[in-house]
This record gives sequence, structure tokens and C-alpha cells, in this order.
Amino acid sequence: MLIVDKELCIGCGICEDNCAFGAIDVVDGCAVVGDTCTLCGACVDSCEVDALKIEGGEKSVQVDLAAWSGVWVYCEFRGGVLAPVSLELLGVGRKLADARGVKLSAVLIGADTGATAEKLIAYGADIVYRADDQAFTYFTDETYGAVLTDLISQHKPEVVLAGATAIGRSFIPGVANALGAGLTADCTQLDIREEDGALLQTRPAFGGNIMATIVCPSSRPQMSTVRPKVMKELEEDTSRSGAIVEVNLEPAMLESKVRVLESVISEHDDVNIQESDILVGGGRGLDSEKGFELIRELAMHLNGAVSASRAVVDSGWIGYPHQVGQTGKTVAPKLYIACGISGAIQHVAGMQSSETIVAINRDENAPIFDVADFGIVGDLFEILPKLISKIEGHRKS
Ligand SMILES: Cc1cc2nc3c(=O)[nH]c(=O)nc-3n(C[C@H](O)[C@H](O)[C@H](O)COP(=O)(O)OP(=O)(O)OC[C@H]3O[C@@H](n4cnc5c(N)ncnc54)[C@H](O)[C@@H]3O)c2cc1C
Repeated sequence: MLIVDKELCIGCGICEDNCAFGAIDVVDGCAVVGDTCTLCGACVDSCEVDALKIEGGEKSVQVDLAAWSGVWVYCEFRGGVLAPVSLELLGVGRKLADARGVKLSAVLIGADTGATAEKLIAYGADIVYRADDQAFTYFTDETYGAVLTDLISQHKPEVVLAGATAIGRSFIPGVANALGAGLTADCTQLDIREEDGALLQTRPAFGGNIMATIVCPSSRPQMSTVRPKVMKELEEDTSRSGAIVEVNLEPAMLESKVRVLESVISEHDDVNIQESDILVGGGRGLDSEKGFELIRELAMHLNGAVSASRAVVDSGWIGYPHQVGQTGKTVAPKLYIACGISGAIQHVAGMQSSETIVAINRDENAPIFDVADFGIVGDLFEILPKLISKIEGHRKS
């Protein structure tokens, strides 16, 4: 709880100004703390007369940091397929492990994983902990969580990374909770702090308006999830060698209260904008659902897929699987053509890693032009038909 020392407080209001949650008011010359206080500590740091302190909010688990070593990546494997984010995380994991001078390990849980463990080594892992059992044919929080929690407790890695996928988001928080660790979700950048080796976990905060870097200086493991397509995978190197450790599975780890009766492919699974090299994105500038006909036509001519801003998804012009951005998907195609999209920070967060960005917008001051490599200022209803007929003409010739 945040305590105000009334003797020391001079009512200067600096804490009030520094509180991002509007939790402090200065009343009758003294700071008063409201219900919205999150114990973030910003006011304590800003107080020039040391009148504020947090009591009972310190992390209760202080661990022997030296006992925790190594970088781990949970590598998602489902229905016989390794999730691409696993290789992306091995890429950043390798960088972190080298910076710390420690080993990079992968955890592979699934049924009939075949040569996947060898593949993980070729993409950067030094050790693969493989838990291969028919009990893992279908994902359940309990079984996957039990295996990962047990492995982490035994081997004590200092860093654990996982994909912010449906599966990662489902069971990784439970694992962090079982270990008494924190978890930074949806990181966009990971680094090591040189002085003490702490993991610097950067992610958008306050609706994407600021990037916050989070550190866990006194507890281990440091756990983060990362969205697909944010990190880059390494080149495959089949000459790399590593160890594959078969995980000893206790019967209790394979038990779940959940029985999966059937697994069906969602009708939206044919839309995977994260896999396409070319995306044509439509925004509110399309005026209506009908405007997407032009976007689809251009995408078809370019062999690409259709993406969208949240504004048009919310308007029901197109389905959520097409949404790019902070609350949609992160994409990194070779070419992203943004049509009638203003370039709000929450949209840009999901597509700024695209290799080449082309923006079509009638407002020359639209923020999308700040991230675009090529910009066309004009009416998309005039420009897109011309572009489509040019491509058609080019194809024919
Ligand atoms: C917490 C939070 C999360 C969010 N998550 C996302 C997210 O994941 N993805 C996302 O996209 N947004 C997200 N948003 C919403 C975001 O802030 C914007 O509101 C949204 O991206 C705007 O969509 P838009 O660019 O299509 O529409 P607008 O901002 O309305 O822009 C339309 C653009 O079209 C141009 N235009 C109009 N007519 C024409 C024409 N005929 N020819 C050419 N140009 C034309 C206009 O000049 C304008 O720039 C989020 C917001 C919040 C608060």
C-alpha cells in the first residue's frame, strides 16, 4: 500500500503530476491516494521530500539469482506442425543467450514430433527438452502447463520465452503464476542489460502511445511472450549439433480434467495474413464494404492477401482474421499496400516491419506516410483501378 507521511508532505503536487492513473490528489496541502493506485512507484521516485513509500507491495519472492541460468524457448507444436513463432523466438533467444554466455534450450511438447527437435537445433537451440506423448495430441492448459512448470523448476532457466499465440496466451500465465514469476506479455523487443544481465522486456503501453521497458531485477525466471512475426528467425544450419533430452513424464503430468472430444478447423483458418508475402490493406477510406472489391482485385492480381484496419473490422466490412495492428495480427510481408488507412499508431505497430510499404491516401499529412517507402497522395477510387489495369497490362505483355 502507498503511504503518505503527512509530516513530510509539503503538498507540492509533483506526485499528482507524475501519477499516470490519476490516483493522487493534493487536498489541504497533503497528498491523498485514491482507489486507482497501482503501486507502480512513479510517485515515490518523483517525491523530492521522501514523503511517499510503498509498504507490503514488495515482491515476496527474492531468489538467489546466481542459481538461475540459461535462456529457454517454449516451441509450440500442434497437429504435427511447428508454429513459425518458435523459430523466431530461437533467433532472439540465441542473441540473448550469447549476450549472457549461457546455453539456449528449446522445450518441445507434442505427439509424434518426428524430426522437429533436430530442426530446433538447426535453428539455434543447444539443448531440446522433448516431451513426446500421445497425451499431448490435443493441447490442454493442465498437461502442457504441468510439464513446462516442472522442467523450469528443475533446471532453473533465467529467461523463458513463448509465443503470444492462442496457446501461449492460454497456458503461459498459469506457468508464471505457478512459479511465482512475473510475465511480460506481447513484447516487441528483448535485450540484456549489461550491468546485471537483467532481461529488458519492451512492449507497447497505454494504448500503444508509449513503449515501456519492464525488468524483473529480483525474481526468476524472467518470462515474456512475443507476438508472431516480430522477431527474425536465423538461417537454418544443419551442421549445428546439440543435445536432445527426453523428458521423464510422471503420470500425474498427463492427467487433465479436460477431455477434447473433437478439434475442428475454424472457417477463418484459410485467412492467414501473416503468411502472405504481399498484403493489400484497406481502411475507412474505402467508404463501405463494397470498397473492398477493389482491394480484393488488386490482391488477386498480385497473388497477395487482404488485410484491414480495425476501424473497418469494427464496422463489419471484413472479418477479424484480416485485422492488422496492436489488437490484430503483426505482419511483416515483403510488400504492404495501405489504401485509405490513416496510419494510427495501433495499426502501424502491426505492420511497420514490412519490407516495403506503399501508402495511398488523399490526405498528404496522413501519418501513414511517415512509415511508407512510397506514397501516393490521391483518391484511391481513381488510383486503384489505374494500378490494377497497369498490372493487368504488364502481365499480358
Ligand atoms: C487500444 C486500441 C487498440 C487498437 N488496435 C488497433 C489495431 O489493432 N489495428 C488498427 O488498425 N487500429 C487499431 N486501433 C484503432 C486505431 O486507433 C484507428 O482508429 C484505426 O486504425 C483507424 O482506421 P483507419 O485508418 O481505417 O481509419 P481512419 O483513421 O478514419 O482513416 C481513414 C483514412 O482514409 C483516408 N481516405 C478517406 N477517403 C479516401 C479516399 N477516397 N482515397 C484515399 N484516402 C482516403 C483518410 O484521409 C484517412 O487518412 C486501436 C485503438 C485502440 C484505442
